[in-house]
Parts: sequence; C-alpha cells; structure tokens
Amino acid sequence: MPEGAPRDAEIIAVGSEMLTPQRLDTNSLFITDQLNALGVEVRRKVIVGDDRANLVEAVQRALRRADLVIVTGGLGPTEDDLTRESVAEALGRELTLRQDLLAAVEERFRRRQRRMAENNKKQAYVVDGAEALPNPHGTAVGQWIREGSKVVMMLPGPPGELKPMFAEQCVPRLASLLPAQSIRMRLYRVTGMTESDLDHLIAPVYTKYSNPVTTILASPGDIQIHLRARCTTESEAERLLAEVGGAIEDLLGDRIFSRNGDSLEAVVGEMLRARGATLAVAESCTGGMLAERITSIPGSSGYFAGGFITYSNEMKQRALGVAAELIERHTAVSEEVARAMAEGARERSGATFAISTTGEAGPESNTGAPVGTVYVGFAGPDGALEAKRFNLPGDRTRVRMFATQGALDYLRRKLLERT
Ligand code: AMP
Ligand code: MG
Repeated sequence: MPEGAPRDAEIIAVGSEMLTPQRLDTNSLFITDQLNALGVEVRRKVIVGDDRANLVEAVQRALRRADLVIVTGGLGPTEDDLTRESVAEALGRELTLRQDLLAAVEERFRRRQRRMAENNKKQAYVVDGAEALPNPHGTAVGQWIREGSKVVMMLPGPPGELKPMFAEQCVPRLASLLPAQSIRMRLYRVTGMTESDLDHLIAPVYTKYSNPVTTILASPGDIQIHLRARCTTESEAERLLAEVGGAIEDLLGDRIFSRNGDSLEAVVGEMLRARGATLAVAESCTGGMLAERITSIPGSSGYFAGGFITYSNEMKQRALGVAAELIERHTAVSEEVARAMAEGARERSGATFAISTTGEAGPESNTGAPVGTVYVGFAGPDGALEAKRFNLPGDRTRVRMFATQGALDYLRRKLLERT
C-alpha cells in the first residue's frame, strides 16, 4: 500500500429528517457499497441533524479518524441546509462565491423558465481550494476538498443526485488515489449450536488473522460467519480466505449448512430435488410454520407434497393414524408420537420422506414435559423411523422458531447420511 493511500472512510449523513422514525439514511449504503468495491472500508457513519455546531464537530472528529470523510445532504438552498458553512468552518477555510457556478445555476432556472430565488445563490459558494463537482440532476454542486493526505467530499442528499455524482465524479478520483486492491468475501451459515459455543470453537483460528476480518452475526438457530479479505490481488485474497475458511470448515464440519448464504429451507429443498425425493410434514407445536418455510422457496412444489397440521390428539389420530394408546401411554409430546406422526404423514402423502414436530412451546405445559421440549420425527423409505429430542430455550415464539430450524436441520442431516 503506497504511503498515505486512503484506507478508511467515515460517512456523515446530514438531515434532521433522518433522526425521525419516518426517514432512513440510504445514501450511506450506496456509498459503502461503492467504497468497498474500491477496497476502502467504512469505519463509522453518523447521522447529524441540521445543526451547525454539531456538524462542525462531526466533521472535525471524522477528519481525525478517517482518511476520507463523506458528507451527504444539507446542500440545498434553504436556511436549514448548513453543510457548506459547517465544512468550511471545520476546515478553517472561507467560502467563496464562484461566478461560473452561479451562472450555471441561473441558467438552469432560466431554461426551466423559473425565477431563481435569492437563496439559491448559496449553492454557488465553494470552500476555498475545493473542486466543484457538477450536478446535472439538480442545483446542489458537490465539492471535493483535499486536506493534507485526506479528502472531504460534500455531496447532495437526494439519492437521484448523489448516486450519479458519486459514481461519475468521486469514484474515478478515488481510484486514482488508491492502490489496486481486491476485496473477497466468504459466508458460512451454521445451525445446531449457540453463538458462544461456536465462538469458543473457532476464535482460536480467526483471532490469529486481522486479514481476513471475521464477523459473526447470530439470529435464533442461525449463525452467520463472514470472512472478508482485503489484498492487492484477487488470488491473494482468495488464498487467505481458503486458509482461514478451510480451518473453520474443519472445525465446524456439517454444522455448516450453507456456504453461499442460502437459507436452511433452500438448502434442504435443493437436497431433496437433487435426490428426486419428495417431502411431507406433520406439525403440532409449529402449527404450519414448517410448511410455510418450506413453501417460501420458489419451486418447492417440485419436492414438497404437503402437510398435516394436527394440533389436537384427535387430529393426530384421525389425520395421521396415530394410535390413541400411544398418546395415552407416552403423551403427545414424546418420541413415540413424533415417530408415529412422521410415519402417518409419509404413508398418507406418498412422499419419500416425512418430518414431524410435537412439543411444548409454552408458556404452560399441557403434558408435563418441560416447556421447550420438542420432538422431531423422521420417516423415510426402507422403514427408517426415528425421532430426536430438542430442549429449546426462550418464549413461545422462539421455541416454535427453533423447532422449525431443528426439524429442517434434522432432515438435512438425515439426507446427508443417505448420500
Ligand atoms: P438535502 O441535501 O439535505 O436538501 O436533502 C434533500 C433530500 O434528500 C431529503 O429530503 C431526503 O429526502 C434526501 N436525503 C438526504 N439525505 C439522505 C440520505 N442520507 N439517504 C437518503 N436520502 C437522503
Ligand atoms: Mg436536508
């Protein structure tokens, strides 16, 4: 990396509307995407209301931390648009009226046969030493300001003006400052373990490397591991990813269900399709959530036969042929009933495989089994009939969510055994 090449950026989104529940800062997402493609990381972003003192402070703080400071918004003609004044103050520079820019704004109004308001004059002021970035889509001129080895950019807020200006004006200027760089990513999705167990297992590997950067994102029953390598060449980035990713794969084994971001229902669907197999479900505690997830995948009609929602004991008997004595002897939340449900669903649907769920989602237990107890049954060809017990944490919503995840993962593992 050449001395002084910018590595890090901070984005400042300006506008009080984005501090309300109604408006989101989307410009920073676009800018981040563009910067990442150039090999620049966004280290921080802030949203600042239309307040001069806060803006000056935000710009000064960003300049201490980051090589690139990108300010978006607040370049309009109205009183509350304070970005120009604030950036000038933060840099200790003056604003100067540029006659050529004023003429261009006036011309823009003339062409539209509208009178230019006195306010619009503001938009022709440029920080001393700045390059003006033309805006073919609006009146707010952008500004590119070198400050030592750093750069401050001021860009308009409307996305339709910001995007072309950034892509056409800023990206080429940035590229000329940057060394050739390549950013490559790897993503693993893991289920069947907690975030802390996973971290305990793989931290000894990834903490040895600052490149690739490892990020772990956990949601119930689904942990994502992101690896991001930043190198001068693509092959070097791929080599680093293979090195760290390979070690992580060795540790996690088949707990990794996806290497490309696909959801568990998509992965299981693909496995069924590849085997030319079909699936039916029998759901008690998940009440249809399992079928909902499976059918959320386009093309699931190619392998999903259908399902039975058998919430009452009577329905388990009538729709699936579960024996009354079995329920009496073991209760509905039991390995035996889970197996019988899967068997009934498989037989009555004609599907290759069936899975079932029966459990106590809470808050009260009906059968005496502790809340969070869920059995998943599995039935397959050649008489395969099994069940697995899960002890799931959390409230009713979480238990039901985890139960669908557990059921899909159980099926995935059963299918893996059969390859
Ligand atoms: P301004 O440059 O502050 O006059 O912004 C004009 C308009 O652009 C605002 O009313 C918003 O609708 C939009 N805008 C400003 N900043 C953003 C942002 N960070 N993300 C998305 N839209 C924005
Ligand atoms: Mg604004």
